[in-house]
Amino acid sequence: MLIMQDVKKIFRTDLIETHALRDFNLQVTEGEFVAVTGPSGSGKTTFLNIAGLLETFEGGRYELDGQDVSHLNDKKRSQLRNEKIGFIFQSFNLIPDLNLFDNVDVPLRYRGFNASERKKRIEESLERVGLANRMKHLPSQLSGGQQQRVAIARALAGDPRFLLADEPTGNLDTKMALSVLELLKDINRNGTTIVMVTHDPGLAQQAQRNIYVRDGKVSEMGDVVELDQAANG
Ligand code: ATP
Repeated sequence: MLIMQDVKKIFRTDLIETHALRDFNLQVTEGEFVAVTGPSGSGKTTFLNIAGLLETFEGGRYELDGQDVSHLNDKKRSQLRNEKIGFIFQSFNLIPDLNLFDNVDVPLRYRGFNASERKKRIEESLERVGLANRMKHLPSQLSGGQQQRVAIARALAGDPRFLLADEPTGNLDTKMALSVLELLKDINRNGTTIVMVTHDPGLAQQAQRNIYVRDGKVSEMGDVVELDQAANG
């Protein structure tokens, strides 16, 4: 379970304060697939980064898997992130000069698994995304959709409870986007909780639940049709 209560996030520069999240409230239950939509600048990425323990916040409470994680120090936060969370991004974020095997290995080394455990996890997770036969290829030798699959394999290799995806299909054409979405749905059916930020209402519609963020708050929850009507006035 992921629970945010009245979470506030302010970005400060010399001249300006931006209230990126204002009393953000959300509960995501184990096993759900939630899509997060909303206008540009409404706070979706900020929410996801806080949920993924990449960012701290100023007020409110965040509970992850039964643990209050609102005030962890940097070391604890990054330990918990590595243990519980897989992240995927619009731009894949693969390391260009490492082959697929070594890309997936990066977070596993960080977790301290031994070599044979890492090999097993890498092979299994690349198998799961349909790229077991490409382990020695470089990211540049793959299509965009395949690169995102590697990023998903890397996120899954540590067996996270939560998979957080920030516009995972934003750089892909429709066909590839749908195939990545099918993969995410399959991963969710196997028990991983997924929270996906997307601008694409068609993709959002395929999640179990949609939340709509506006001005740093969850303004609506419901199916996509209701949300579109809410957004249009
Ligand atoms: P988009 O759909 O365009 O990606 P978003 O809904 O994900 O937008 P965020 O990226 O969460 O929105 O940004 C929310 C607000 O916080 C915006 O006004 C943004 O300019 C601001 N913001 C985000 N990151 C920073 C930062 N590091 N420093 C200052 N302001 C920031």
